[in-house]
Amino acid sequence: MKTKQVVIIGSGIGGSAIGALLAKKEEFRVTLIEKTKFIGGRFATYEKEGFKLDIGCHMLANCDKGPLGKVLSICGASDYVKWCYARRPSPVINFKGDFVKFPYELHKLGFTQEDMNNFIRFQADILSMSPEECDRHDNVSIRDFVSRYVDSDLARSLVGFFAAIYFVDKDDVLPVGEYARCQNEIAANKALGYPAGGTGAVPEAYCRIIEESGGKVMTRKGVNKIIVETGRVKGVELSNGEILDADLVISNASIRDTVLELVGEGLYPGSFVQRLKEYGYSYGTHVVKIALDKPITDQKMIFYIGHTDLMEVEEKMGDENWLPDSASHLMIPIISNLDPESAPEGKQLIFAGGGSRQPYTSGKEVWEKWDDAILASLKIVFPDIEKHILWKTSTSTTAINNLFGEEGSVIGISQTIGQIGKDRPPIIDPIVENLYHCSADTGLHGIGGELAADAALRLYDHLTKSEQ
Ligand SMILES: Cc1cc2nc3c(=O)[nH]c(=O)nc-3n(C[C@H](O)[C@H](O)[C@H](O)COP(=O)(O)OP(=O)(O)OC[C@H]3O[C@@H](n4cnc5c(N)ncnc54)[C@H](O)[C@@H]3O)c2cc1C
Repeated sequence: MKTKQVVIIGSGIGGSAIGALLAKKEEFRVTLIEKTKFIGGRFATYEKEGFKLDIGCHMLANCDKGPLGKVLSICGASDYVKWCYARRPSPVINFKGDFVKFPYELHKLGFTQEDMNNFIRFQADILSMSPEECDRHDNVSIRDFVSRYVDSDLARSLVGFFAAIYFVDKDDVLPVGEYARCQNEIAANKALGYPAGGTGAVPEAYCRIIEESGGKVMTRKGVNKIIVETGRVKGVELSNGEILDADLVISNASIRDTVLELVGEGLYPGSFVQRLKEYGYSYGTHVVKIALDKPITDQKMIFYIGHTDLMEVEEKMGDENWLPDSASHLMIPIISNLDPESAPEGKQLIFAGGGSRQPYTSGKEVWEKWDDAILASLKIVFPDIEKHILWKTSTSTTAINNLFGEEGSVIGISQTIGQIGKDRPPIIDPIVENLYHCSADTGLHGIGGELAADAALRLYDHLTKSEQ
């Protein structure tokens, strides 16, 4: 008998995953409310002229072997998503137009033999860190840890580049413990890849499970208010004034917006509100998506490095008014080589994303300059690309902020030292009974979408254990 009414605010990975998990249980009746027209939040996918474009994201660390797959497997729906691995060919580094085998051809980037040996020792030590050692290293920055091995700006910034791809923040504030945990999982699972149909296929599969289990999914309906009576959730008020009663409310919106706006900060102790306001968000990533009239590469994933003086670039990026002529680093997933159905037959779809520190308040001209900078670097990797472009579009930090808030950040609350492990915001609301926060903000471990799925799996454990 479905006796507990659960209202979920938001269809991002955290919201749709917890919705699917609870909907499969006998006692929960799930209603999911999404304010935009998209299912999936930052993971959503839409179509343009036969091409499938993700709103934001582009590569998953562990596909079916990680938390996103675990949610499907608990729901008995592993076959609802088909995964396309980034293998044959595996990801490659492109340095200023030349392909470099990692880590054995690092001399092509300017590494001395000694730096290379030390760097390989660093990589080996990261890969052999035990879970306890990872925990102990959650207050050591990646930059400090690499410096124990190599006295080279180049080596430090190369690791900084990979850390930025994972966590979209700076290596001097990111913890090496979480970096090692993620590296170890990726190495063990060998399941880096992409879902067929675009990243949106994952939250869409979760929402399908909700509906097949008797729950409801509503889009284009925002929640304006969480109704609280005598310290306990009673329901939510929608943007059209409709009231939905609820025994449990789970918010997939940012924890800051949920507490400050949907509940109201007056109910919370000043210290908690202050802490929420102090949490820092990760940076944004500017992503250019290009439809091509024919395939121009067989690669599936390219990490582009355009400068050796990466530390200098890092310093310049600290100045938010600095606009580069070319992108110094890019992650370039060739989406249609991962998932051939993402582009019409005979065409190719390429994404290129570069971390940008430009604030979400930047105007159109700033993002057009970023489009040009990314295209300039893409021309170094693919000299012919311009001849084959059918059209291109891009997602800026401003666009992400307009849709999903959180200053347009990639992750939400960043996984930096002091904001990781026990220092992350809580899943269980500390004041309002039966209110929960389930999003990347409250995940404890993992990269991007997997961090949000981690929050859902932890909340599921909590709610189903307390049912027994
Ligand atoms: C440019 C970019 C690139 C990325 N690249 C990667 C990548 O390569 N790999 C990876 O794993 N991750 C990547 N990510 C990160 C990943 O997309 C996010 O970490 C993850 O999707 C966040 O999920 P979430 O559950 O926190 O919810 P969100 O995606 O933040 O979704 C929250 C949802 O709640 C809805 N909502 C908010 N308020 C209300 C309200 N009042 N009423 C109703 N609905 C509401 C929103 O509309 C939204 O749909 C990227 C993100 C971006 C922006």
